[in-house]
This record gives sequence, C-alpha cells and structure tokens, in this order.
Amino acid sequence: MATLILGRHSRVLLDPVSFAFMFKVLQGSLRSFKPGVSLKPAPLGVKHVSSASTSVYSVGDKRQGYTVKDVQNIPEISALAIKLSHDGTGAEHLHVAKEDPNNTFSVGFSTIPEDSTGVAHILEHTTLCGSQNYPVRDPFFCMLNRSLSNFMNAFTSNDWTMYPFSTQNPKDFNNLMSVYLDCTFFPLLRDFDFKQEGWRLEHAEVNDKESPIMFKGVVFNEMKGVYANPEYLYSEAIQNFLLPDTTYSVSSGGRPINILDLTIEQLKKFRSNFYHPSNAKFFTYGNFPLDNHLKAIHEGVLSKFEKKPPLTPYSTETVIWDEPESQHIQCSPDPSLPDPSKSSTFSMTYLLAPITERYECFILMVLCELLSEGPTSLFYKSLLDSGLGYKYSPSAGYQSETRQTYFSIGLQGIDPADITKVEDAILSTFEKASEVGFTEEQISSVIHQMELSLKFQEKNMGLKLATSLISSWVHDANPVDDLLVNDIISKFKNEVSNDFLKDKVRKYFLNNRHVLKLSMSPSESYEQTLKDAEEAKLTSFVSNLSEQAKRGVFEDGLALKAEQSKHQNVEVLPTVQLSDVAKEGNRTLVEKVRGDYPIFYHNEPSNGLVHLNISSNFGSLSDDLKMYIPFFSYAVTKMGAGEYDYTDLSQQFDLHTGRMSVASHIIAHHSSMEGYYEELLCCSYSTLANAPKMLSLWKDVLLRPHFANEQRLLHLLKDFSTSLAQSVTYHGHLYSMKLSSSTLTTSARVCENLFGVTQVRFLQDLVKNGNVKELLDKLSSIASHVFRGENVRALWTGSPENNDNLSEQLQEFMQTMGHKEPQRDFLTADPLFEAQTGNKVHIVLPSLVNYVSQSFKSVPYSHPDYPKLQLLAKLLNSKYLHKNIREIGGAYGSAAVQSDGVFSFGSYRDPNLENTLSVYEKANEWLLGSETSDRDIDEAKFRMFSQIDSPVYLQDKGMRWFMSRIDDDQVQLFRDQLLGVVRQDLMDVCEKYFVNPRNSSVIGPAQSEDSASSWTVSEF
Ligand SMILES: [Zn+2]
Repeated sequence: MATLILGRHSRVLLDPVSFAFMFKVLQGSLRSFKPGVSLKPAPLGVKHVSSASTSVYSVGDKRQGYTVKDVQNIPEISALAIKLSHDGTGAEHLHVAKEDPNNTFSVGFSTIPEDSTGVAHILEHTTLCGSQNYPVRDPFFCMLNRSLSNFMNAFTSNDWTMYPFSTQNPKDFNNLMSVYLDCTFFPLLRDFDFKQEGWRLEHAEVNDKESPIMFKGVVFNEMKGVYANPEYLYSEAIQNFLLPDTTYSVSSGGRPINILDLTIEQLKKFRSNFYHPSNAKFFTYGNFPLDNHLKAIHEGVLSKFEKKPPLTPYSTETVIWDEPESQHIQCSPDPSLPDPSKSSTFSMTYLLAPITERYECFILMVLCELLSEGPTSLFYKSLLDSGLGYKYSPSAGYQSETRQTYFSIGLQGIDPADITKVEDAILSTFEKASEVGFTEEQISSVIHQMELSLKFQEKNMGLKLATSLISSWVHDANPVDDLLVNDIISKFKNEVSNDFLKDKVRKYFLNNRHVLKLSMSPSESYEQTLKDAEEAKLTSFVSNLSEQAKRGVFEDGLALKAEQSKHQNVEVLPTVQLSDVAKEGNRTLVEKVRGDYPIFYHNEPSNGLVHLNISSNFGSLSDDLKMYIPFFSYAVTKMGAGEYDYTDLSQQFDLHTGRMSVASHIIAHHSSMEGYYEELLCCSYSTLANAPKMLSLWKDVLLRPHFANEQRLLHLLKDFSTSLAQSVTYHGHLYSMKLSSSTLTTSARVCENLFGVTQVRFLQDLVKNGNVKELLDKLSSIASHVFRGENVRALWTGSPENNDNLSEQLQEFMQTMGHKEPQRDFLTADPLFEAQTGNKVHIVLPSLVNYVSQSFKSVPYSHPDYPKLQLLAKLLNSKYLHKNIREIGGAYGSAAVQSDGVFSFGSYRDPNLENTLSVYEKANEWLLGSETSDRDIDEAKFRMFSQIDSPVYLQDKGMRWFMSRIDDDQVQLFRDQLLGVVRQDLMDVCEKYFVNPRNSSVIGPAQSEDSASSWTVSEF
C-alpha cells in the first residue's frame, strides 16, 4: 500500500536509525540501520569531477559576494566540496558538486531553545505560513502542487532547524529556492498563523458560543501524539537529565502543557535571534552550477542584511559530573508489552567526546558498535540473552546528535525488582570488555561493513548529506572534513588493536563518572495527571477571561475560520508546467539468464557490488501456516543455519555480505481484483569476490535453518511481537486503512491478516500461550514447504562484466534448491470471496488522538480508471482534505490513497472522529460542486510525477517487474493515460466509484457509550 503523505513532517527528536549523523552515514552502515542508510560513491561510468571544474574554484576566490574558503576533492563519493563564506553577512555555504541530476538545497540554522514551549518547532511551522513575496496561507503545501520535487520538508531538531528540498529539474530548483529563501528570511508570522499552528483558545464548535472553550493548535496536538509514545518520552528524558543546564534539558518539540505559555512575541524574538544570515548554513548538492545558486541567494536575501555579531545563546555544553546520578520517570501503561509485570525500563548513559572531535567520535562509534550491536556483541549476550528484559532500552547505542555525544545501554520489559541485576550486568560487561576485549573477526567485520557502505549507492545523496552534516556544522565543525572518511578509516586500521580498544573502554566507561541511571515505570494515573494539568490550566485561563475577552475568543475563532476558508491567490507562486514532465518514463531492462532456471538480471554499473533478490512463493501454504509467515521471515536469518549457531551466522553475514534479510510481501495482481502473489523475498548484497560466499550462506539459511533453540526463538518472538504492537502508535493510519480495506478484496484481507492489527493480536496470543514446541513445528514446516525449487525465482543487479560469472553461480544455486518447473503461475485466488461493506470497527487504544479511515472498492492497476482515481486522490489531498482535516480539524495529516483495487481515506493524529468521517463522505459532493480547473488537474499531475520519477535504489530498479510482474510497457501506458486525464474524467470516476458502499475504522481512545453504539468496539 502506498505510504501516506502526511503533511510536513517535523522531526523533533531525531531517530538515530534513519537520521544518523555524518560519521554513521559515511563510515557506519552498521547493522542497526535500515536498508539504504549509507553512502554511495558515483556509479561507475560517472567520472570524478573533472580537473577543469576543480580549477574553477580555489581558496581565496571572490564569487558573487562570497569568498571561497575550502576546496577539496572527495573521492569517497566522487565529488568536489567547495566551502564559501558570504562577505557581507558571514553566512556559510557548502556546495557538493557531483554528477548526480537529483539536486538538493537546504538552509539550516542553529536554534537553541531555553524552555519547553516548543518555540523552535512552532517557528518552523509558522515560517511556512506565508512570506513577503509569497503571501499565501501555506506556500510550502502550495508548492507541492507546482513542483516536480521528490523531497520537500522541514525539520526541527534539538539544536538546529533545517529546510531542505530535492529536485531533478533546474527550473523547479530555482522556483523552490526562491520560495524557501523568502519563507525563511521574510516570513509574515501573522497572529492567525501562530494561533493555527501553535495554540489558541477556541470554542469546541467554532460557530457555537455555548460550546465549551478548549485548547486547539496543530503543534499542540502533534506533540500530544508524540508524547503518547513511551519510547520518545524515555529518549528525551535521557537527554534532559544527562545534559542539565543546556538546551538539551528542554523539549525543542514542545511539551503540550508548556506550549500553552508561548506568546507570538516570544516566537518573534526567537526568530530574530536565530533566523539570520550570520547564523545560517546553506547547502547545495548536485550537477547544477554553483554560481547560479550563489547569485540567487546573494541577490534574493544576503545583500539585504548586515553582519550580526555572533550569538551568545543558551549553553549547549554541560558541566562534567563527579558522581553518577539516578532519575526515575513515569509513563502510561503499554498494553503491547507481553508481560504486564515486566514493564519497567532501565538504562545507564555515559557522557562521551564532543561531536567536533571527529576521530575520537569515530573510534567511539566503532567501540559502541562492538559492545552492543548484533548477537556477537558483549551486551547482546549479557543483557538480551539474559532474559531480564526483552529488548534494549530506547536510544540504546552511540548517540551523536548533541554537542556532547553519549552511549546508552539498558533494557526494557524488566521486572522492577531486577533493576539492580541489570545495573550489575552492565557494569560487569564493561569490566569484561576491558579485560577480554574483542576478537579480530569482530573488529574486521565492523570495518568490512564500513567499507561496503562506501560502495553502496544512496538514492537521495544530497538530502542524506544535508541532514548528516548539520549536527556538527552548527557547532562550528568544518563540514568538508566530515566528508573525508577514507583518511579516518586508514588511520583507524593502522592504530586499532585489542589493547587500544580496551584502553578506550577503561577511559570512557570504567573511569567515567558522568553517568545517568534512568528508570521508567508505567502508572495508571499518568494520563489522567496530564489531562488534569491541562484541565486546570484551561480553567484558570477561562475563568480569568472577562466577558469582553470571551467574546474575543468567539470572534477570533470565527475570524480564523474565515481566514482559513478565504480564497487565496496562489498564482503569485512560481510553477513548473506540464511540458516540463518527461513524456517517456525510465525503462529498466530485466533479462532472463539463458537456461532452464527462472533467474533474471538487471545490468547496471554497481560500483563493484552484486545485489541479489531471491523470491519464494508461499501461496500453497495452509491459511493456518500463513499467519506465521511474518515471524518466520523475521526469525529465519536470526536462528543459526548449517554449521553456524546464531552468533556465528551473524558474524559470517557481517564478514562477507551487506545485510541479509527476508521479508514477506502480498502483491495484488495488476489486472484482477481476485488474484494476488504471496512471496518471501530474500535480499542481500556483497562485493563480487564475496558473491559465492553470499550464495553459500543463503543455501544454509534456506535449506538448513535451525529452529530448535527454544530460548532464542521465544526471545525473538517477544521482540517481534512487541515492536509490531508498538508500531501501531506510530503508524496508526496505516493499520487503520488496512482494517477498513480488509473485507473489500482478497489481497486486502490477507494484508490485514499478515500485516494488520489481526497479526499484532495473533502474535500477542502466541506470546501468551508460549507453546514453543508448536511454534517450532510450524516454522519448520514452513521452511520445508516454501524453499523448494519450484517456488523460487532470483534477480540480481550488477555490472555487465560480471554476467557470466554470476549466472553460472546462480544456476548452481538453483540446482541445489532442487529446482523444477513451476506447476502454477504463483497467483493465489479465492473464488468464494465476497466483499463485505458497511463495517464500522473501532480498536480502542490508550492514546489521546485518533487514526480514522474509510475505504471502498475501486479497480486494479491496469484498469483505465486507475490513473484517474490516483489523480483524484492527489487532488483531494491537496485541495480538500488538507484544508478540512488538518487546517480546520487540527489533525496532523490526512490522505486519500488509490491502491490495489481499493480507495481509502486516512487521518493521522486526529482529534476528531465523526467530523473526519463526514469530511470523507462529502468528498464527492465537494468535487462535483467545486470549480476544479484544468490547472488543478495539472497540479495533481505534478504531484504524481514527482513521485513516479523520484530516484530509486539501484537494486530496486528491477523489482517492480520481478515482484508485481508489471513491465515497462504497462508503466508507459499508465504514464500516457495519466498525462491524458482531463477534468471530466475525474467527475466520471467520482460518480462511478464514490457511491460504492464503504467501511470505516478508527484506532484511538474510547468514545462515549452513545457514539460507540454504532461501532464494533474491541480493546487493542
Ligand atoms: Zn511539527
């Protein structure tokens, strides 16, 4: 199912997995990372930046009002880095020139809040509410309709705020840069914007004076949702306590109760302190000429400012402690935990080197990886295998988004009585590390993973660099140094030895006194306490209102509503035209290897790597066994195989390959509403030299997996079940949409069973009944049925010169799998399936906000109405849902999605339920009665094409054909149809499909008895 586009996304606490800092990105690619988070050099065939262009810039040159400060060739990524400083203002600019058509721009500021009013975060939102040259309500969202960008967003972190975008079109780049510059340096910051995005007092029903007065506001609601997550709460508390008297001791996102103390004057003051060119970091990346960028920035912004003396902001550096400290916090009970008596969290966090000490941070990253990552690590054995808890504590690992970096380690899901045992285990593990150290194999595999990551081809390199470099750049590190990784790796390789690492363990852990011991336990009254505090604040605000002020609240509410529905002239904004969209889509030639086996290849220069995908159809399994497939795919690479136990197997993966993983997929047939493919997909990559070893490891995993280690199996089951249950709070909209779709088509039903709330509950039951023997039987029987030759296909991606060599190895591999001609075309279908509609399902989750969705039946991919419905979904998103669900309704986001035979609506962190449903129901009324213009249709097309043409990972290029069986001609036909859609087509499909009966679902807090009566309600 397509991912929702959920409004602009502000990351208020950086997730270390997807948002790693530069060292991790460049040097890491460590196991904890999601696929793709690593750095790529240029594809072969793309030359290093030519010496001609190198000579164009040299240190000391004056260009467009700037002086060149540093020029470096960066062989790591086949690029040239040029750092400049603006003469008039001191603004810094880093340009990374590279032969990559996907260009990136960003402007970032160091932003250092002193309190938890969320001032930095609310400023980020209101900055995007209109500017001097572009006085429209939401230029950012408007530009999504006028651009071919593949990324536009804004981020608020602890100590910086950043506004990045990426696009492949030069005209679009200039358009967007002009809007971004005007927004960030000349925003309007009107009272309305503050009220809408920050907070306000308003009647529950805006038009009804008698309805109660309450708090409303986009960020206010957003942060309620964020704080409902105990992991977030815990991660933030670590920073707050470990780094007292610094900006990290407050919440940059804003605590809901403190947000209510913020005034627009404070917001403006914060802005004038931090959003100044002298405090700005500009970043550009790609193959567009730097001089044009500099000229536009100088003329549009910088020439209008004077240099400002450096800020003396609130501290970012804490005083080092003499003794460890202990702290305790509470959270709301987490129903997703497998054992309610084991619901405490405990960790120890060690303050480490400053982020600006590059080499030391690099050593620490490696050391922390050795200590805690993967089954071979010491903490894995002493904590995860101990059975004391089920999972590492939130933010475990090396964290480097703050000025002083830190390492945190601990467990969640522990019995409060066992906290001292966990503490003892942590201390003795450090002792052991300082005595025994690490094996040569362990150290080599970490280095191998780093070197592999340098070869890996990133899909949005510019964005990756922009977000990675900023963390240390705002602390005055030279970002160019952060790009030069090879030197650091070689220095480390020369210097590293077991004694070297053991010394570091003593220095940073055994002899370190700046240690935070943090525990967290659930409290039944936690949420009520928050509610009471909000209620008390509301009462005190409202009771202090004079009659006149009360009238003011009512009138302000009406005025804001009027403002939100006022027609605005978006034509002041620049735009691309339909003629800027390429008529022909990119093609990816996938060919079959000669011979009997279903082996396919996609030839493309791959920097010496081989990417391998092996798919195995599981359609012939019984329905009972299919329920175990998601856990099976999670566990099969983690149990050990062939001659290796699980620790050795993990070591083998790291020594020879880049991440070996298995995942399950349900893929609706492109032309039929009934048929679908059920496939397990095994993915991995390696260097060409290691390809035979990679295949031999797959043989072990697929043909000789071990499931017999009961303790290990149970541990993995708990881990998997809990993280899935916890994902419901983060991805409630996706779960809700799966639920409302689930009775409409066969593939949607299977998706719900395997990936929806049904699966989450199934796993929780498995954990509860704890029958390992049965589980073991099921997994073994899946393994023996699924990985048979007749179910298996393979696709590899790599450089053409490796063709013969690899094809031969794969044929041999297929032979061992016992390959036979498939007896069927792999399509699963259920001829007895009958769609059910009119369902209203409510899953009660202890959260403060809702995820509301509604679905009805539509058409599959190849149907001529499919592109029309997809375009209609885009149009509804931007012209109807955004306004009614987000701006007026106060939800964080909303979306309409046409996918796989179903049309769905969904909302994210939504304070409303019935209102939202009625917005969904009135969508066709709106469309048919609206004056949708041809221009609106073009805008929806821009949105579609920026998505369709956005860069993909090299190894994913052949996957559409391989998995969905959709070929380039079908994709081109879809493109042609999409380009040809006219206004009347949308009216027609709306009349044809929007009358279809619907299902509704909500995941969210309990409703009153009255309103609940029409719903099928169950507890999560
Ligand atoms: Zn936000």
